[in-house]
Amino acid sequence: MVLRQINPVRDGEEKATHGGVVAAGGSSVLHRDLAHDFLPLKEGRGNHLVLDDGRKIFDASGGAAVGCLGWGNERVAQAVMKQMLAMPYCATIYYTTKVQEELCRFLVDSTNGKMSRAYIVNSGSEAMEAAVKLARQYFLELSPPQCQRTRFISRKQSYHGITLGALAVGGHQFRREKFKPLLMDNVTRISPCNRYRGKKPGETDEAYIVRLAEELDQAFQAVGPETVCAFVAEPIVGAALGCVPALPGYFKAMHAVCKKYGALLIFDEVMCGMGRSGTLHAWEQENVVPDIQTIGKCLGGGYQPVAGLLVNRRVVDVLMKGSSAFIHGHTYQGHPAGCAAALEVQRIIKEENLLRNVRAMGGLLSRRLKERLGQHPNVGDIRGRGLFWGIEFVADKATKEPFPVHEHVAMAIAERGLKPEYGIGVYPGGGSADDCIRGDHIIISPAFNVSADEIEWIVETVGRLIEDYFVDLL
Ligand code: PLP
Repeated sequence: MVLRQINPVRDGEEKATHGGVVAAGGSSVLHRDLAHDFLPLKEGRGNHLVLDDGRKIFDASGGAAVGCLGWGNERVAQAVMKQMLAMPYCATIYYTTKVQEELCRFLVDSTNGKMSRAYIVNSGSEAMEAAVKLARQYFLELSPPQCQRTRFISRKQSYHGITLGALAVGGHQFRREKFKPLLMDNVTRISPCNRYRGKKPGETDEAYIVRLAEELDQAFQAVGPETVCAFVAEPIVGAALGCVPALPGYFKAMHAVCKKYGALLIFDEVMCGMGRSGTLHAWEQENVVPDIQTIGKCLGGGYQPVAGLLVNRRVVDVLMKGSSAFIHGHTYQGHPAGCAAALEVQRIIKEENLLRNVRAMGGLLSRRLKERLGQHPNVGDIRGRGLFWGIEFVADKATKEPFPVHEHVAMAIAERGLKPEYGIGVYPGGGSADDCIRGDHIIISPAFNVSADEIEWIVETVGRLIEDYFVDLL
């Protein structure tokens, strides 16, 4: 994560204090921001976070769009505890566990046969690293092998994780900047599909999609189509843009270009997947099935660090006929406690039909946010799907001019939200000094069991927060 995103102190403004803080300077933790004060988190109850001093904060973003059941779920905690007592670790070189097998079966079945195997790791970044390596290995094991395929095409303003391989395919300028000399340089970045920022005045959706597909085609041509392993994209761009879904038909057009050149399609659903968008997999709404898919956050809902890959038959069959091994592995992959948490979270989502609530409450959230904030002069765009909504801020609504990056507007708003008079947690992002889009945004992504009353409270509180912030700013 970005140091300066964590400390949004604006020029001349007093440093934010939320009360009851732990000074990072006096801590033994190598905190993300060594100069910042951190809130001492005691417990989570439902959708509320409780600090050491008893103060409550409504978690309207599930942290980083992670919490999908809220906090303190007994069933998930019991499932993890049971597994820890039975067997807390699995050396996956020799063994498997029932819980890993059941989780992977659940995940594969959830795709109606579109995907054929699942692979469980501990974080979204690990999942992306594995996806990149698997794509490469697929081409090495094709018959005949296509060893020249070493390149990737991804999109500007995308975030695929913080480790070196994931940073290399990602397009989050700020997070990459200082580490560029360490990153593989075999990645071409093209424009994302961003209706608000990318579409030209008067351009139809269809023409915009054709233009973006041509850009992808040209990217293939520029590097040599026979050298590309995969096109990598988030179906709904999360941290880098703030919940920007592609236009209907966009991924079909992009997939057609990948097919034309024999490249794989990798969807990063770490943030937008596992129900967040209203369907278990965001690609279900695109009608486009990827070859490899990464999942994370809402897989385990924050109860354990757990993420994974879903892989289709095309890729699995090649490995089966080839080396029959994925040359990759982590000590803690397929971790039984992570699998137990994920399996229980997914069972609860299914049993309680929570995706229906995601769609219903998502509709309400979208409507109410637009009513409450749509006309605000500093709100440029409100977009998203399911319970995954972004609000983008602009200095000038007519020209869409963003705020200067150094003002850290989104972080300042999010930090202000934590103060007692609001008591709300939202997730800030943007502000990356990229070559095109740098809009500040906040993400609202509450738990899947959020109620209509809670949605009304979120909208009212976020409305007040944004209004107050810009009154003070301008
Ligand atoms: N991919 C996307 C789309 C993400 O949003 C993130 C994290 O925010 C990652 C990958 C990396 O996941 P993690 O932070 O679990 O490593």
